Amino acid sequence: MNVVDKLPSLQVMLKHLQKVPYLSSKNMYRVATHFLHMDRSQLEYFCQALLHAHDRLVPCPTCCAWQEKDAPCQFCQSAKRDQKTVCVVESWQDLLAIEKSGAFSGVYHVLGGVICPLDGIGPEHLSIEQLVKRASTIDEVIFATNQTPEGEATAAYIAHCLQQVPVRITCLACGVPVGSALEFLDRITVYKALAQRKEF
Ligand SMILES: [Zn+2]
Repeated sequence: MNVVDKLPSLQVMLKHLQKVPYLSSKNMYRVATHFLHMDRSQLEYFCQALLHAHDRLVPCPTCCAWQEKDAPCQFCQSAKRDQKTVCVVESWQDLLAIEKSGAFSGVYHVLGGVICPLDGIGPEHLSIEQLVKRASTIDEVIFATNQTPEGEATAAYIAHCLQQVPVRITCLACGVPVGSALEFLDRITVYKALAQRKEF
C-alpha cells in the first residue's frame, strides 16, 4: 500500500496542492512538509493573507491589471503615465517584466492569456473586447505578446479587430527569443525590445 494512503489527512492536503499550477509533484511534497512544520499561528496568518489578497484584489475594469478594491488603478489613473500609449501583454507577470525594464511610461492592457483553440481558449475568454472599446482614445498599441505561435496569432487577431480604428500598431523588436516569455527575460533585453519597437 502507498505510504500516503495510510495518511488520509495528508491525502486531502495533497489533493488541494495538486491543483496549484506550476507546482511540480516533487515540490508538492516539500511544500506539504513545510506547512506541517509551520506554527499553527504562522499558518493562520498565511491563510488569512491569501484570503485577504483574494478578497481585496480585483482586475481594473479598463486595463485588467490587479488593483486594490476601492483604490484607483496605478496605471489608468496616473497623470504621470502616457494614457495614449497602451502596451498589450498576456499576463500580469509580463507587465511586471516591462515595468522592471524602466523602458515604458505608458499604460497597459492585460489580456489574461492567449487564444489557444486546443485548450478551449477563444477571444471571448480574453479581454480583447475591452481593448477594442478603449482603442478610440489611444494613439498607439504596442503588442508585447510572447513570440510563441499562440502569442503571435493573438496579436494578429487583435490587429484585425482594430482595423477600423485609426491607431498606430507596433510590436516589440526582434531580440526577444522565440518561444520565451517576457517574464523570464532580463531587463536589458526587454528595454531594447521596447525601445526599438517596429510597425506591426
Ligand atoms: Zn487600469
